[in-house]
Order: sequence, then C-alpha cells, then structure tokens
Amino acid sequence: MPRPLLATIHTAALANNLAVARRCAPKSKLLAVVKANAYGHGLASSFQGLCSTDGFGLLDLEEAVKLREIGWVGPILLLEGGSRQTDIDMIDRYSLTTTVHCDEQLRILEMARLSKPVNIHLKMNSGMNRLGYAAGKYRAAWERARSCPSIGQITLMTHFSDAESEIGILNQLDVFEHGANGIMGSRSLSNSAATLWHPNAHFDWIRPGIMLYGASPSGLSSGIKGLSLQPAMTLSSELIAVQTIDPGGSVGYGSTFKARERMRIGVVACGYADGYARCAPEGTPVQVDGVQTQIVGRVSMDMLTVDLSLCPHANIGSPVELWGVHVPIDDVAVACGTIGYELMCAITQRVPMYIE
Ligand SMILES: *Cc1c(COP(=O)(O)O)cnc(C)c1O
Repeated sequence: MPRPLLATIHTAALANNLAVARRCAPKSKLLAVVKANAYGHGLASSFQGLCSTDGFGLLDLEEAVKLREIGWVGPILLLEGGSRQTDIDMIDRYSLTTTVHCDEQLRILEMARLSKPVNIHLKMNSGMNRLGYAAGKYRAAWERARSCPSIGQITLMTHFSDAESEIGILNQLDVFEHGANGIMGSRSLSNSAATLWHPNAHFDWIRPGIMLYGASPSGLSSGIKGLSLQPAMTLSSELIAVQTIDPGGSVGYGSTFKARERMRIGVVACGYADGYARCAPEGTPVQVDGVQTQIVGRVSMDMLTVDLSLCPHANIGSPVELWGVHVPIDDVAVACGTIGYELMCAITQRVPMYIE
C-alpha cells in the first residue's frame, strides 16, 4: 500500500448500533438506511454489520441490485421512488418497494404491467416541503393507489425536518395524523433523531440512518453521549514527514499558520482528494501517536499538517486518527461547520477500506 491512509469499517459497531436502535423502539420494525454507499461505509461491508435488520432503505437502483446480489431477500425501499418506466421494470424484477410521493409516480404504476403487485410507501409532505402529497390530498392519493392493480401493500410515510432540534416533531406529527386519519396501513415516520428522542413517532417502522454509523443526528457528539453508540468508521493514516520550523515560519498553502515558537509539524497522508474537508480550520481535532492534537495550516489535496507540540515522540510512521474511536467524527464536523453525515459521505474512492 503506497499510502498509509485507511478507512476501517467496524462491523461489530454497526451491529451494536442496530441493537441500540431496536432497544429505542422495541415494538417497531427497522429499515436500515444505507443510501449513499451506506453513508460512505460501503454497502457490502455495512451489510455484514446490519444484516439482522428487517429491511433496507436507499436511493439508487444500482445499490438495491447490489444488495440482492449479496443475498438480501427482505424489503428494500427506494426512498425517492422510481419515476421512469425502466425504473418500474427494475422494481418489479428485483422485488423492491418504492416510494410514491406524487401523481406522476402513481400514473406510471397505473400504466405498468408487472409480474406481481409492488409494495409502496405513500409519502405525505407534513412540513418538510420537499417530497410528498399535501395532507389534504393524501386520502385521495391513497384511494387511487389502493384501486391500482399494480400496487400491493401501502405503507403510510412521512419525514421530519426538525426531529433533532428543539423545534421537534409535534407539528408534523399532528399534520400527518390528520391527513392519514382513518387510513389503514403500517406507518413509517422516524429517522434516527425521532428513533432516539421521539417515541411517540415510532409506529410500525423506524428508518434510522446516521445512528447506525455511530454519529449524532444533532451534529454534536454530546447529543449521543451515554447511548452506547459506537463509531462504525475509523479514518486513520500516518505521519509521512516531520518538519521543525522556527518562529515566524509558516505551513502549507497560503501560509495561513505561522509558528509563534520553534515547533514540530507533522505531515499526514490525507487530504481533500480523500474526502477530508478542505475547510477544516486550525484547531480541528486529530489524534497523533495516541495524543489529541490539532490541525494547523490549510488542508491540501493529498496531505494535511498537524501540531506536534504535544507529541514529542511522534515521528515518521506514527499513527494518526482523523476520526473514529478516539476522535468523534461529530467533533471534527463541528470544527468544519458541518455535520458528521457530510464528512462520512465525502470519503472518496481512493481511500482503501478495511472491514473488521
Ligand atoms: C436519509 C433518510 C433517513 C435516515 O435519516 P437519518 O437522519 O440518517 O437517520 C430516513 N428516512 C428518509 C426518507 C431519508 O431520506
């Protein structure tokens, strides 16, 4: 391996986190969300940790087919549904469940000739205002779906915009319950935040994503303290060079960091072409040689630089953890002004994965 950079996927952590989600919602079935290549963790590796789920949720047909090829025979929900005739053919062929959020998708199912009825999640827009039928049009959509011979079971679904914040879900829950009032069928509402913090929204199916990967829906590592979630990915590398710089000496492009005293700087084989955020500022946490320290200077394409003042024994070959078991991805994300979701999804193809 020419570079020491590695993303280690902890399948035992995935299994643990799935068990935590089940304990949060013991009466609900669980749809593990593995969109975007399992939030950057790799679909096949995540499957190893998540295979005790009741179903999977994702977006791309390609990923759905991959799950079938791995051998998953249970439910797979396409979270945005299919909108072309060719999508419906694939949905039929691979026995997928599809989201229906608009009349256009219904119409295609009405015209389709399928080998068997397809199960759908009928999506209500309860306030997120991205996808779904308005509450007032929901019953009509449900009746239309029910009378369509190509449609089998209909699960009632909506998605929360603020389950992780103080705004909460009560308003959307209220809209949903009014719109779906008296309609029979399973209900699916809760993402990770609602799974963790809103038991009144669990119903028949929960749809956790981020918590399965051991990160916080609120973006703060403090938000999941005490929940025994474990990080599912450790991004690690090594020092490939060490520089000693004099006071006033600078580091990296733009000379954004200047040394106040003579100090040692470590060069880490990881950069924005690996998916590490270029915007990570000075002070972003990183662990070197077992010691928590910080990034200094600008992240470049293939390398980043770290302060070794606290790591006197660190040298070429010393281990570096960018995030994972010791450095919560949420803490890195806060420093970068984003959320753990974005960092984990951004890991690029060139980062080798090790599944343990
Ligand atoms: C991504 C997604 C989820 C999972 O959300 P998390 O915040 O990662 O738990 C659930 N439902 C839908 C419709 C989604 O798109």
